[in-house]
Amino acid sequence: MFQFPIYLDNNATTPIDKRVLDTMLPFFTKYFGNAASHSHSFGWQAEEAVDIAREQVAQLINAEPNEIVFTSGATEADNLALKGVFEMYASKGNHIITVKTEHKAVLDSCKHLEKLGAEVTYLDVNRDGLIDVTELQKSIKSNTILISMMYANNEIGVIQPIKDIAAIAKKNEVLFFTDATQAVGKIPVNVIKDGIDLMAFSAHKIYGPKGIGALYVRRRNPRVRITAQMDGGGHERGMRSGTLNVPGIVGFGKACELCKVEMQKDSQITAELRDKLENELLQIDGSRVNGSRINRLPNTLNMSFKNVDSTDLMMRFSKNIALSSGSACTSATQSPSFVLKALGLTDQMALSSLRFGLGRFTTEEEIDYTIQQFRHLL
Ligand SMILES: *Cc1c(COP(=O)(O)O)cnc(C)c1O
Repeated sequence: MFQFPIYLDNNATTPIDKRVLDTMLPFFTKYFGNAASHSHSFGWQAEEAVDIAREQVAQLINAEPNEIVFTSGATEADNLALKGVFEMYASKGNHIITVKTEHKAVLDSCKHLEKLGAEVTYLDVNRDGLIDVTELQKSIKSNTILISMMYANNEIGVIQPIKDIAAIAKKNEVLFFTDATQAVGKIPVNVIKDGIDLMAFSAHKIYGPKGIGALYVRRRNPRVRITAQMDGGGHERGMRSGTLNVPGIVGFGKACELCKVEMQKDSQITAELRDKLENELLQIDGSRVNGSRINRLPNTLNMSFKNVDSTDLMMRFSKNIALSSGSACTSATQSPSFVLKALGLTDQMALSSLRFGLGRFTTEEEIDYTIQQFRHLL
């Protein structure tokens, strides 16, 4: 049997895997050294652990270890990629192309850059949440320096045509950055095969600790350069100063290693459970799935229900089932999700939507209970 509450919000964060925690613990106490201390064994041990973790992180995405820049998470990696490229390539141009359904860390970084003189194109998506690649091609101009398109959406799980986007970027000699925070560890992400130049991802979405993430920065073909946004001791090959979060990095490495081995099996199981949940909830009169059901992460389901207020529903369930509407909400007011609105949903439909994020530890019993509760209430 399972314990209440059931956690179905794995797109917001995941519990740390016990095996990850066990790997991290000695680095808080026994091996507490600063990885930049080169004069004693405390430093050497920390540095060696970071080297191993960097290799594990790189391997999951088919990168080289020296292409990994550790950051405090995907938010920082998004900021570093966008602002770092904008500053570095200022003499080449100031135009960035992105999409309306990006994570706020990307959209708000773009907003910030607009104040500094950037020209930003925000592409629309279709009803399925997918961009139109011909639209993307048409939006490229002589001053375009960067395409920023998320790999998979955090609210609806929709996977963009990454290889096609990369091909357009390459053909036009524009850099391609992707926020792959939701994709890494769930589906195969390969920076070489996918043609990615810069990529953000985070440990706490893949059963690692919070407060650690990475930016992949391609070193060859082409060699990508970014301007540091954090000045200091010149850590991370000058791209991100600050004493390394050794326990976090060790945990991130272990989390990546586990994903590499277990991802295929995990994703198959979560997809089966997700599909069961989807099929059963679709029996409810007036319910519908938001976003493409084909180009989608194996763990994510976003649905609208007829004549239902999702905040109200979440609150009624909150003691037993942890869910999310996938949109920014405060206790007093809730605004409709901008992602769902970009798909063409009305405010009312967007406000009657829920996101189910399954994970490595979701069980069939939990899904059966959830189905039963929805049937009972709706
Ligand atoms: C969670 C998430 C982020 C933010 O990651 P943090 O590591 O929490 O800063 C950015 N982008 C996407 C798509 C996410 O899902």
